[in-house]
Amino acid sequence: MPVSTAAPPPALAPGPAEGLCLDFANTRYWRGTPAPTETLHRPADLLGWCEAAGLVDAATIAATRAAWAAQPGLGEVGLAAAIALREAIFAAFAAWAAEGAPPAAAPGAIAAALAAAPARARLRPGQGGFVWEIPREAALLAPVIWAAGDLLAAPRHDRLRQCANPQCLWLFLDDSKAGTRRWCSMTSCGNRAKAHRHYAKTRALAEGAA
Ligand SMILES: [Zn+2]
Repeated sequence: MPVSTAAPPPALAPGPAEGLCLDFANTRYWRGTPAPTETLHRPADLLGWCEAAGLVDAATIAATRAAWAAQPGLGEVGLAAAIALREAIFAAFAAWAAEGAPPAAAPGAIAAALAAAPARARLRPGQGGFVWEIPREAALLAPVIWAAGDLLAAPRHDRLRQCANPQCLWLFLDDSKAGTRRWCSMTSCGNRAKAHRHYAKTRALAEGAA
């Protein structure tokens, strides 16, 4: 029986929304506190996030999971590379949001990741439209890297924001009509700030009346 030398099937990746790179940056949050919340502790956490975010097809996730189970070192390397990429994305877009102006040059780590990422050159029908067909071995975080490049080059980059709660520092794209959204979420940081202002005001009034 001839030994099969067929290459593994390609990975299939839907075109990412630009905000996907910010979603990835926000997998570590409460960054303004002494102990930020980390959600990617183990390689399995990274695969779980990629799966939930629909980055690539289920077969690619399953193949990666199997490869990492067989060789745990691979998963650790993959996780370390993902964290380095995530921190580069966070640093670049947090600086841009704080400055309100683009950096002087494309952030080096993102530029390097883009140069090494698979090209979006082949489309195939899938999931109600088309998906990108890319080599499986480079697929896992390719959509995150593309999204970072797309956001750097996007007309919507003026909607890049960082939550005004100094303990939160969540990155987001402001989709509000007026473009004046300041909080990652009104129900968490927005209300917290409002309650804080209300408390300060009533305390000032009480002290004034005393
Ligand atoms: Zn927030």
